[in-house]
Amino acid sequence: MSTNNVIIVGGGLSGLTLAYLLQKKNISTTLLEASNRLGGRIETVQAPLGTPLEMGATWFADQHFYLMTLVRELGLQPFPQYAEGIALFQTKSFEPPQQFYVPESEQPSYRLAGGTQMVIDTLAEKLAGTDIRLEAKVTAIQAAANGIEAVLADGSALQAGRAVVCIPPQLAATSIQFSPTLPDSILQLLPAVQTWMAGSVKFAIEYATPFWRNKGFSGMLYSHAGIIMEMYDHCSKEEDRYGFTGFLNGGAAQYSQEVRREYALRQLGDLLREEALHPSAYHDKLWTGAFIADDNPVILRPHQNNGHPLLQQAYMNGALHFATTETATAHPGYMDGAVEAAMRVAACI
Ligand SMILES: Cc1cc2nc3c(=O)[nH]c(=O)nc-3n(C[C@H](O)[C@H](O)[C@H](O)COP(=O)(O)OP(=O)(O)OC[C@H]3O[C@@H](n4cnc5c(N)ncnc54)[C@H](O)[C@@H]3O)c2cc1C
Repeated sequence: MSTNNVIIVGGGLSGLTLAYLLQKKNISTTLLEASNRLGGRIETVQAPLGTPLEMGATWFADQHFYLMTLVRELGLQPFPQYAEGIALFQTKSFEPPQQFYVPESEQPSYRLAGGTQMVIDTLAEKLAGTDIRLEAKVTAIQAAANGIEAVLADGSALQAGRAVVCIPPQLAATSIQFSPTLPDSILQLLPAVQTWMAGSVKFAIEYATPFWRNKGFSGMLYSHAGIIMEMYDHCSKEEDRYGFTGFLNGGAAQYSQEVRREYALRQLGDLLREEALHPSAYHDKLWTGAFIADDNPVILRPHQNNGHPLLQQAYMNGALHFATTETATAHPGYMDGAVEAAMRVAACI
């Protein structure tokens, strides 16, 4: 491998966008992804009736300038989140839910037609000639004669001119050994950078009909009383596939998926009646796995140290950069931040 090559650690939105931007500059990259799929915190599941169900990132807005620019460049189609009709707010399990209308927002939130995974799949298509390796977990990054060496979990090693770490900083602190060791300031910072959405529990349900829309409900639910904490209509852009997505409360992680499903359906059955009890699919995902949280015991505030200036500096004589969403300044943690971070690093390579 040439030392002009750039090793990208992580095949989420930041890593793939970076590979795409460097390809446009005729700089070759090798992208190493630890898991068996691309996308990281973006994961769309196709339900049996064809509804794209988001288990990870879902919404974005006009102010997400970097993401919007990429989405337009890739020819993808944003569409507004459906919010017409009655929204529900459950304050207590023994009281009927409050009903209210959400005023039409001047700044709508958008979803991506076909699912957020479209941005990942389209980037991967554009990178058809790039060396993208799955199940390639980087465990060490060390200085080498003409740049840098990345060591993989299977013991193999790759050399390149530079490496860009596109995994959450906190995860980098616990899973990658840097040698020579990094300055104390960044070593102390990395474990104290909150990984956006780590620990959250997302769920999505598919139905054969949009029965709630037919009864005047928006599909929006906020609850202090049930396992579903927050929920939104999740029908397709074409309005021919139907479902909900949202978040379960933090305690849900302690139950089996079967129990979570049972509690979620019971809550929806109480609110929306019989039809809610018979979905064609139920999925949920705990974002606690090895490739996002890695059992880091430090408890952090949302967005803590996100966009910290030390995350935007280069290390190891300019051969090592960090470019995950948590390093961004405008919207760190969000998809927009992942694209911003990739653009920042691509501009200085
Ligand atoms: C449940 C949930 C809901 C969300 N909702 C929204 C939303 O509505 N809107 C929004 O804008 N954002 C949302 N986000 C955040 C959004 O998903 C992220 O900002 C974005 O996807 C981060 O991309 P990234 O490439 O920076 O990091 P990641 O997606 O975390 O990618 C990092 C990649 O690195 C891989 N990796 C980890 N360790 C290693 C290693 N040692 N070696 C090699 N590879 C490794 C991982 O497997 C992963 O694929 C949500 C996130 C979650 C989890």
